[in-house]
Amino acid sequence: MTSVMGAIPSSPDTPAESAVATRGDRPVEPLIFEKSVPGHRGVDLPPLDVPRAPLDESLLGTPVDLSELGQHDVMTHYTHLSTRNFSVDANFYPLGSCTMKHNPRINEWAAALPGFARLHPLQDDAQIQGALRLLYETRCFLQEISGLDEVSLQPAAGAHGEYTALKVIRAYYRHKGQPDRRIVLAPDTAHGTNPASCTMCGAEIVMVKTSDGYTDLDDLRRRIDEHGPESIAAFMITNPNTAGLFDGHVGEAAEIVHEAGAQLYLDGANMNAILGKTRPAEFGADVMHFNTHKTFSTPHGCGGPGAGPVAVAEQLRPFLPRPQVVRRTDGTFGWDHDRPQSIGKVRSFFGQIGVLVRAYAYIRALGCDGLLDVARKAVINANYLAARLRDRYHLPFEGPYAHEFVAVPKFEDSGVHNVDVAKRLLDFGIHPPTMSWPIAHCLMIEPTETESLATLDAFAEAMNTIADEAVHSPERLKEAPHHLPIGRMDEVGANRHLDVRWRPE
Ligand SMILES: *Cc1c(COP(=O)(O)O)cnc(C)c1O
Repeated sequence: MTSVMGAIPSSPDTPAESAVATRGDRPVEPLIFEKSVPGHRGVDLPPLDVPRAPLDESLLGTPVDLSELGQHDVMTHYTHLSTRNFSVDANFYPLGSCTMKHNPRINEWAAALPGFARLHPLQDDAQIQGALRLLYETRCFLQEISGLDEVSLQPAAGAHGEYTALKVIRAYYRHKGQPDRRIVLAPDTAHGTNPASCTMCGAEIVMVKTSDGYTDLDDLRRRIDEHGPESIAAFMITNPNTAGLFDGHVGEAAEIVHEAGAQLYLDGANMNAILGKTRPAEFGADVMHFNTHKTFSTPHGCGGPGAGPVAVAEQLRPFLPRPQVVRRTDGTFGWDHDRPQSIGKVRSFFGQIGVLVRAYAYIRALGCDGLLDVARKAVINANYLAARLRDRYHLPFEGPYAHEFVAVPKFEDSGVHNVDVAKRLLDFGIHPPTMSWPIAHCLMIEPTETESLATLDAFAEAMNTIADEAVHSPERLKEAPHHLPIGRMDEVGANRHLDVRWRPE
């Protein structure tokens, strides 16, 4: 195998150098098409040693304009692009609600073991006892952590877990002869996937007010009375919630919901702040989902990969997806398909096994004390950062915080908004926090338990420097980022007129 050397920029006149053109006043990354050199090849085919035969015309399509480059040039192009990415491996990534934390490399080692990575989904149970045991034990760990009675590992993400759980709840009420329980209540700070899952399940979502970041229990009662208790299926609560607060009144909310004959659903995206401290079953949850990619690590983002196991209380067990991974009386592991009331399959084969292996490795590596430490550190890191920012940023929700907190620039009258702070942070090599959710104008900051004090201090200093700039040179902030290939984008335009395809001139 040979590859043709790409052009190395030696003088400003070489083609490679002119390909690193500037658009506007910033150097930009050339596209792979712009680097193309006619005649360059990634693979040299052996000379033809059989008689040439004509090809049927009908098989010939329109020629495509692909770029022509040697293998090494393709490698350097994409490897270089990858280093321009913001990632948890290279940058502080305090994206609130997403739990972008360190993913221990031992998880990657475990997930790549051939016994997991090269499983064939139709292999005989007897040949994959190790993998089945891992799934079964993961199921048991999550049952223990939630305090609930049974876990299904099938759902492929948190949102998919919500959808699965809502289907389970619907099947339960149909079975009980109460098919009219179609309303799902959720606080107005709920994650967007909550109403989306309800809609996909044919349920009607009704928002409950929050005050100071907590569910307004009077409003919860009012909504139940307004629609009639017999029409309520569930109340979906996120706890710790999206304002970064642990709602200590969740037990009371559970009583109200149970009195209406409905289920308390816990969105468990923020479990990292309560691991080992409390169990959702203890504060009244009947059903919950885990986001194992958040709580128990796995590199995630841009839609995947994830796993969203669902845990349920006794009354909902018969309706969980099938098959279920089980330990048989003879000690072997296998699948139980005999679940006549099950909602059926929600995911092909075993679920997201690679992600579940990582969750298993994370739990086993930390053990009980380690998981408790995760919660302690997630909480202390969030509260430490909040304390370091509170002089220059308004913290609309009073702490103490669980895993994250919401901050609003105090300097909005200088014309500098949350988006300007977010863009300027990029110049410091920091990924922006979540913006404008759960309230307008805010930044939602989640440091996670894996960040060091030095990183937290560097972030606080960057945020406070930006607050100074907002006073002394607000125009500089309006134009940030200054040190990246692409400056301020027209984000609305980019969304409305999506154009991600290169066309030859
Ligand atoms: C991340 C998140 C979800 C959705 O989970 P995915 O795994 O991304 O589908 C739901 N609720 C909350 C509060 C979240 O933070």
